[in-house]
Amino acid sequence: MDDALCFVFRGGELLVRVDGALALVPRGRDVAALLAAGTPIAAGEMGGAECLALAVDAESAAPEGMEFRGLRGLHAVLGADEFRMAGRASQVLEWDRAHRFCGRCGSPTEPGAEPLARACTGCGAVHYPRLSPAVLVSVVHGDRILLARGPHFTPGMYSVVAGFVEPGETLEETCIREVREEVGVEITDVRYVASQPWPYPSQVMIAFAATYAGGDIVPQPGEIEDARWFSVDELPMVSAPLSLSRALIDRFVRGQGGDPARLRDPRSPPA
Ligand SMILES: [Zn+2]
Repeated sequence: MDDALCFVFRGGELLVRVDGALALVPRGRDVAALLAAGTPIAAGEMGGAECLALAVDAESAAPEGMEFRGLRGLHAVLGADEFRMAGRASQVLEWDRAHRFCGRCGSPTEPGAEPLARACTGCGAVHYPRLSPAVLVSVVHGDRILLARGPHFTPGMYSVVAGFVEPGETLEETCIREVREEVGVEITDVRYVASQPWPYPSQVMIAFAATYAGGDIVPQPGEIEDARWFSVDELPMVSAPLSLSRALIDRFVRGQGGDPARLRDPRSPPA
């Protein structure tokens, strides 16, 4: 356990040792007191090292030389593998916290025989972490892309249409339904592009590209504040490079011969 990489979360914040522009995940020996006081969960393995996930109370102080930092903000300073494992650890902890009781019979659950399983002490049901799949759709019409903004977005920011998969749907059907519901537009030629774990708290995002097939934009009341077609030269502020929605927009920009590095994201000052 001394050598284990320890992903210690205080709410949505991860414990790290900041070293210049880099953040490092502590080893078991660095956080022995926290491990001893809590209930670490095996979260997997990375580069030959065991990985542990541990949730601590909101009042917990960071050990000497370390600090708690918001997970999203660590994207640029944590190694790529560490960031992914941190996301996984965060999801495992969230699942563990939310499945203390059986959803079937209400009895308490306990760690199961397999990793990432909790077994019911009453009916024996075994519960595994659940993911919520959500699609992202880039709709392109000639040299323009359809972007929309919800009422909760950062002012001035737009993104691609997104939505959760419903029971009984293929991912492509979700894309068609969400675009129709949110902006009133029909699409065709829905193609898979990429996927990304999105541990805020337990989603997996699946990105698609589609072609406009008809209809005028009609924003869905309450859900969509504004939606428009944008050419590469008139793109608004878009989400930060971390996200798959941004990757779809970058893909459109490159397809138009543009440079995604010139796009504005919410952390940049207004151009
Ligand atoms: Zn049960």
